[in-house]
Amino acid sequence: MPDAVAPLTLALSSAAPLTQASLEAVAELLLDHPGTLVLTGAGMSTDSGIPDYRGPDGQRRVTPMQHGEFVGSSAARQRYWARSFIGWQRFSHAEPNDCHRSVSALQARGVLGPVITQNVDGLHQAAGSRDVTELHGTLAEVLCLTCGTRTDRDLLQARMAEQNPGFEALASGEASDGSRVSSQIRPDGDIVLDDALVTAFHLPHCTTCGADTLKPDVVFFGGSVPRERVDACYALTDEAPALLVLGSSLAVMSGLRFVRHAAKRGIPVMAITRGPTRGDDLMTVRVDAPLRPSLRALVDHQA
Ligand SMILES: [Zn+2]
Repeated sequence: MPDAVAPLTLALSSAAPLTQASLEAVAELLLDHPGTLVLTGAGMSTDSGIPDYRGPDGQRRVTPMQHGEFVGSSAARQRYWARSFIGWQRFSHAEPNDCHRSVSALQARGVLGPVITQNVDGLHQAAGSRDVTELHGTLAEVLCLTCGTRTDRDLLQARMAEQNPGFEALASGEASDGSRVSSQIRPDGDIVLDDALVTAFHLPHCTTCGADTLKPDVVFFGGSVPRERVDACYALTDEAPALLVLGSSLAVMSGLRFVRHAAKRGIPVMAITRGPTRGDDLMTVRVDAPLRPSLRALVDHQA
């Protein structure tokens, strides 16, 4: 930790004085609390081409897959896997952006500690972060809900390609009008796909038990995070000197509860994200600003 701290310059032309002051406050708190626990959300990955379900106003822009719907019907799973088959091509090629690299850099310097992420894209790890807990699971693994067998998502992708020859070309619009597949990819790897195409898709079955109950190992909306993972995150919060929320409006309880827990412990709670969060009344400092320049400023400040 450096003794002399360079003046913090926030590279935001539109930065309000309050935002500037708040970011400086975050920088000072981080200096005083090395190893600060990080909680990240969808705002981290938008620069990697993975959009947020919610806009800066916190309102949902698209309807995500619901847990009950997915486990309740083969038709819903067919729709999910058909879309996911196409979406995976792009999702799996997403790369970490400057936000992930900044977190990784601050972690390497000991400024930040473990990372709890609500994202399922693996980009923190790809950027070199360690001690990452994927609160909502990962899209890179697939779980059979009937027998519990785990499969690598890439292997399943290859199997779906085999069972659905030509589907990719058809879905990408190469076969006819070129407008059949939307370019809109969603945070869970889903995309928008024409209904007629969905019904033509062969739903993959489990190679162990034969059931059609394969599910990406992620927590869908309406699903619950495994208890032991929740406990592990509470334990991280118990040990944390401070908590920093990045790119999340804390709209779902799965993340908000750790903010509440941290506030109850009396440790500093900070957030940098666009728009309001559900934990605003619990924050020591909150910066309503774009993530990338804010994190960059913190990296420069802690250099
Ligand atoms: Zn199975």
